[in-house]
Amino acid sequence: MEASIMDGTKRRCGVVSGVSTVKNPISLARLVMEKSPHSYLGFSGAEEFAREQGVEIEENEYFITPDNVGMLKLAKESNTIMFDYRIPTAENEKSPLKMNGLPMSAYAPETVGCVVVDSEGRCAAATSTGGLMNKMSGRIGDSSIIGAGTYACEVCGVSCTGEGEAIIRGTLAREVAAVMEYKGFGLQEAVDFVIKHRLDEGQAGLIAVSSKGEVAYGYNCNGMFRGVATQDGLKEVGIWK
Ligand code: ASP
Repeated sequence: MEASIMDGTKRRCGVVSGVSTVKNPISLARLVMEKSPHSYLGFSGAEEFAREQGVEIEENEYFITPDNVGMLKLAKESNTIMFDYRIPTAENEKSPLKMNGLPMSAYAPETVGCVVVDSEGRCAAATSTGGLMNKMSGRIGDSSIIGAGTYACEVCGVSCTGEGEAIIRGTLAREVAAVMEYKGFGLQEAVDFVIKHRLDEGQAGLIAVSSKGEVAYGYNCNGMFRGVATQDGLKEVGIWK
């Protein structure tokens, strides 16, 4: 698992990757930000820091659910890399999406992202994931890369989901902030621009907030699990366009 968090006002961040016993990797990422002199801890060092900090630990078995075992088996049998629960079908096989030459399926409930803006316009973003089904051992995705899967600054907070390799190549989260800063785009305009121009053939999506209190999302895949809640009581969820 891996997770990252960023506080836009102070541009502080904390990241962990390669953890396999930490119940809530995002809490550990926050501790890296607040209690360590570093921004990023990985693998055995991250696990060691987790124990030092006394975060909730679970045996590795806790994370191995029958659902995931089934999905991994399926992914291995069909020699695919997956980032969702959709089974490769004959129809997919006709025009399969490819990642590093392997077919893959296309919408992504594995990652959890959250972006927030407070009444004073301070933005923050966080992303946590188990990554891709049937990923190689040692693979690190976008969710634990500041600027790729997660970014927050004075103008916005962004969290991404989808094909991590494409999100990394496009430095997707940072690009939303960059076009707002350098092109003067509004939040939704920036999100649309980045989804259209920075993703090449990769499939991904993102959620974003601005310091003005706007919320936006965008994706180039079939759907994206998402929700919004505001102080005024607005609450909405969505999956498809
Ligand atoms: N972006 C994540 C990764 O590549 C996967 C996801 O969003 O489901 O690790």
